[in-house]
Amino acid sequence: MWTLVLNCGSSSVKFAVMDPGTGEQALSGLAERLGSPEARVVVTCGGQKTVTEAPNADYARAFAALLSELGRLDLRRQISVVGHRVVHGGQLFSAPALIDEAVLEGVRACIPLAPLHNPANLAGIEAAQRAFPELPQVAVFDTAFHQSMPEVAYRYAVPETWYREHGVRRYGFHGTSHAYVAQEAARMLGRPLEALNLITAHLGNGCSVAAIQGGTSVDTSMGLTPLEGLVMGTRSGDVDPNLHDYLARQADLSLEQVTAALNRQSGLLGLSGLGSDMRELEQAAAGGHGGARLAIEVFVYRLARSIAGMTAALPTLDALVFTGGIGENSGGVRAAVISRLRLLGFELDGAANAAVRGQGGFIGTPGSTPALVVNTNEELMIAREAAQVLAAHSHSQTVQPQLAPLPEESTG
Ligand code: ADP
Repeated sequence: MWTLVLNCGSSSVKFAVMDPGTGEQALSGLAERLGSPEARVVVTCGGQKTVTEAPNADYARAFAALLSELGRLDLRRQISVVGHRVVHGGQLFSAPALIDEAVLEGVRACIPLAPLHNPANLAGIEAAQRAFPELPQVAVFDTAFHQSMPEVAYRYAVPETWYREHGVRRYGFHGTSHAYVAQEAARMLGRPLEALNLITAHLGNGCSVAAIQGGTSVDTSMGLTPLEGLVMGTRSGDVDPNLHDYLARQADLSLEQVTAALNRQSGLLGLSGLGSDMRELEQAAAGGHGGARLAIEVFVYRLARSIAGMTAALPTLDALVFTGGIGENSGGVRAAVISRLRLLGFELDGAANAAVRGQGGFIGTPGSTPALVVNTNEELMIAREAAQVLAAHSHSQTVQPQLAPLPEESTG
């Protein structure tokens, strides 16, 4: 049986039909620019791409197109569960959850913590429930993996009432990716995850580091929101908390203007004045662009400092794991980070670092603290978690998923 994985953003849906056991993908695709005249659904299956133009499509129309593609490929009746990526589960969710009214209420309750993401995730779930009424649906939260952080790691040094009354604490994100690459790293190291102390660095457009002890997260660099921590593509990461106040007085900027700039015009983009894409910056830096060089240097320095800081959360360090578009593909960033972490026993094997391109592998010299590259696969992790939740509920005496008869295939 296959699992349908859905990642619903405000104007896009990424989807994949996967075998949670083997990781095989029956199809994958993207509904993009939803709500605009250019909306379209792109499905890739067996190396073949099908593009369906769907002007002004919403989630419902996008799912109708997906359904008809599933019907055409005879996959519709082989899907047993839908797994949804949900960004913020607050303190309510420390594990994936079979979606019912109470879970939807919980996701709604977390909207103030993720005002852009959770409403889109919710709308996607509700549309998917209407499109696939016969299928159980599971919410897999970006924050859940980090709910194991101890209080010393998740509390801010702010008035306690802010925490108690408004949930002001560190939550962390990218949990699905950190959890997945930790499992993969244990497999590559040939040791049980339960025995390992790892630091994982997820470096994509968003970036975060996690300290993982025996398979559970004990600290991470993102906080209340995904703005905290590392320098990212367009996000600043840590800045002085007085920045809003200072800019309001000096530059007459509103709260909203500063927040928007910290999220969308900062990070690699802000520092370089050029762009947020690491590939582009590496090329520009090689060509002598000073802003691009500085952006990469600050990115690397802050990352190395954060990794070193994470060691405070662990009794020892067995390995450092790089993942995400930058972590998997930028040998230059990995080399520069490793060279700043010699005190932790890291030493780069230049040839190995150059050789991992696209496949993952070890990049340190023999005898040094292991550093490795693991290709993340958040879709597979969501598929696995959804399948596990379904299996657990199917086996329990009390909660049986109610499978309604299949409706007629949609032709829309
Ligand atoms: P997202 O967080 O949106 O999923 P990705 O994980 O795909 O993003 O990461 C995107 C980042 O990865 C971009 O900065 C991109 O430039 C970078 N990247 C992808 N391929 C390479 C490469 N070959 N060399 C350097 N950076 C790369």
